[in-house]
Amino acid sequence: QKAEWAKLKNEKTYSQDGHHVELVANIGTPKDLEGVINNGGEGVGLYRTEFLYMGRDQLPTEEEQFESYKAVLEGLAGKPVVVRTLDIGGDKELPYLSLPKEMNPFLGFRAIRLCLEEKDLFRTQLRALLRASTYGNLKIMFPMIATLNEFRQAKAMLEEEKAKLISEGVAVSEDIEVGIMVEIPSTAVLADQFAKEVDFFSIGTNDLIQYTMAADRMNERVSYLYQPYSPSILRLVKMVIDAAHKEGKWTGMCGEMAGDETAIPLLLGLGLDEFSMSATSILKARAQIRHLSKSDMEKMAEQALQLPTTDEVVKIVKEAANLK
Ligand code: PEP
Ligand code: MG
Repeated sequence: QKAEWAKLKNEKTYSQDGHHVELVANIGTPKDLEGVINNGGEGVGLYRTEFLYMGRDQLPTEEEQFESYKAVLEGLAGKPVVVRTLDIGGDKELPYLSLPKEMNPFLGFRAIRLCLEEKDLFRTQLRALLRASTYGNLKIMFPMIATLNEFRQAKAMLEEEKAKLISEGVAVSEDIEVGIMVEIPSTAVLADQFAKEVDFFSIGTNDLIQYTMAADRMNERVSYLYQPYSPSILRLVKMVIDAAHKEGKWTGMCGEMAGDETAIPLLLGLGLDEFSMSATSILKARAQIRHLSKSDMEKMAEQALQLPTTDEVVKIVKEAANLK
C-alpha cells in the first residue's frame, strides 16, 4: 500500500472519472515544508501564522515575518501558499498582549476581531506578506470572518498597505488572491453574498462544527455533538461550495475533516475543490480519490443531505466508498 502511495508523489489528483482536485497541506512553520514536498503536497492550503507570535515575549518584527513568509513561498517554488493572518485568542494566548480574561474566549476578542482593533500589529503582518508576495504564489486568508464589513475592512487595510509599499518603490505581486475562512455559521449562511467579494473560501470545520453545534471542540463531555457528518454541517458545507461556484470562485477545506477518509468521498461529491490536511495524509488521500467516482459520490452526497442523523450519513458514505 505504502509503495502504491509513493508512486503518486508527483502525480496530480484525479478521481476515477477524471475530476481534478487539489491536495495541499496545513503547516505551522517553514520547517514543515520538507514534509509537504516529501509527501507530494500540491501547495499549502493553510499556513497558521500564530506560531510566529507564540513562545516569545514580544511581537515578531516585519522583517522576521517577511523572512518566514519568503522562505515558505520560495520553498514551494510557485505552488499556491494560503497564508492565514493572525488567529490568536480562543485557546491560543499571547501573554505579552496582556488582553483581559474573558468569560467565553472562543466567542470573544480573537483573530480578525483583534486584528481590526490592533491595527499596527495587523498592518505589520500585511506589509510582511505583501513584500514576500513576489517570491511565489501567495494567497491571503482572513480567519474568523463573521460579517462582510469585517472582510471589507481587512481588505481595505491590505489595499492601503499595498499602495504605500508601491509608493515606496517596493515590488508587490499584482495577483494575490484574498479569501476567508468559513468557520462561523453566519458566514456559511451568507456565503452567496461573500462569494461576490472574496476570491476563495476555505472551510474551517474545526470551528464551524463547534459554533454550529454549540459544542466546545475540546470538551469530551459534549463530543457526541461534535460530529462532522451531521447533516446540518453537510448542508452548510454544500451551501458554501455552491455559492462559490456560482460566482466562479473555488472552495477549499482546511479543518481536520478534509483529511479524513470517511469525509473525503462526501466532500468530493459535494464538489470541494481543494483539500488541505496534514502532509502525512496526502498520499493516502490521493490514492483513495483515484478509486472514487465523482459522479457516484455526487449521488451519495445528494442522498446524505436528505438524511436526518449523523449515523445514517456515516452508513451510506461507508457503503458508497467501500470503507469498513
Ligand atoms: C478550523 O477552525 O477548522 C481551522 C482550520 O482553524 P484552527 O484549527 O486553527 O482554528
Ligand atoms: Mg479555526
